[in-house]
Amino acid sequence: MTRPICADIDLTAIRHNYLLSRSLAPRAKAFAVIKADAYGHGAEAVARALAPVADGFALLRLEDAIALRNAGIRNPLVLLEGAFSPEELEGMARHSVGGAFHCRQQLDWLDSLPDGLAVEGWLKINSGMNRLGFRPEEAAAAQARLQAHPGMRLGAIMTHFATADDARGPHAQWARFAPLASASGLPVSASNSAALFGFPETHGEIVRPGLCLYGCSPLEGKSAQELGLHPAMTLSASIIAEQTLQRGESLGYGACFTADKTTRIGVVACGYADGYPRVAPNGTPVAIDGQLSRLVGRVSMDMLTVDLTDLPHCGVGSRVELWGKQVGLDTVAALAGTLSYELMCAVAPRVPKIWHD
Ligand SMILES: *Cc1c(COP(=O)(O)O)cnc(C)c1O
Repeated sequence: MTRPICADIDLTAIRHNYLLSRSLAPRAKAFAVIKADAYGHGAEAVARALAPVADGFALLRLEDAIALRNAGIRNPLVLLEGAFSPEELEGMARHSVGGAFHCRQQLDWLDSLPDGLAVEGWLKINSGMNRLGFRPEEAAAAQARLQAHPGMRLGAIMTHFATADDARGPHAQWARFAPLASASGLPVSASNSAALFGFPETHGEIVRPGLCLYGCSPLEGKSAQELGLHPAMTLSASIIAEQTLQRGESLGYGACFTADKTTRIGVVACGYADGYPRVAPNGTPVAIDGQLSRLVGRVSMDMLTVDLTDLPHCGVGSRVELWGKQVGLDTVAALAGTLSYELMCAVAPRVPKIWHD
């Protein structure tokens, strides 16, 4: 490894966040959501770290679930969008991987499941998000069809909230979902991280925390720290060059920062091709050898620039935390006009990950 950039992943923090999250719903199971390579943290490493404590894992792709089975993960696995083809349904049955059933086509595919194979299904209801799921009035018929099939074990009835993280909350969807969920007699699964932290009435029998496991706040207006969550990912890179700008000189593409006094600049080995957001503005916080400073100038593909003027002891070789324990990912995301979800998932494959137990 030559280029001085890496993403350190704190597995102890992820375990803490999982146990904290589950403790908020003490009567429910918690399926840890590890789709998108565990939100950029490495699905296999995260699954191994949580396997001794996790009630199950939720993910997206059958091939990732099979990789976990091959890595020795025995916990229940559920695919949040279910099978994408009849062949996948068979693969799910063969590898003991459950999944959502959200549309008529997936019910039809059950008929081509070879005799003797069985799959666990979670009946997915569209309570207002309007992406996946049976409409409330279709729920009873879909449930009856699933329950009539010899190859099916119905494990839960589920829905997903569109606005649990903002001021509207999940109330409208919950009001549509709760009565039919209790009429179904099935275990109920509705809460994402935001509903888990904010709306205990939605906990049901199975919660599905994702974001909070990685130490970011799922609630608008509440910080991760206030919620007791520990940041899991630290993205850091080294300073590879220094420049001194005279008053009036400008910096980088678009010359969007101009020095109003003599300004010392550090050039950092991290750019938007590594996953740092190009739109992060002048002033976005960074921590250089443990001391807070700021981004100046436009982020380019492979480099970004930081202010060293008040840090005389920092220079080439100093380590710059772009986000992590000192600089909150949520803060960087907000300044870049996006969400921590997107930044975590966007860390590029060329950034080596280092996992710490
Ligand atoms: C991604 C996802 C979750 C987890 O959501 P967070 O907001 O990350 O907690 C839960 N349920 C479903 C269906 C999802 O797709």
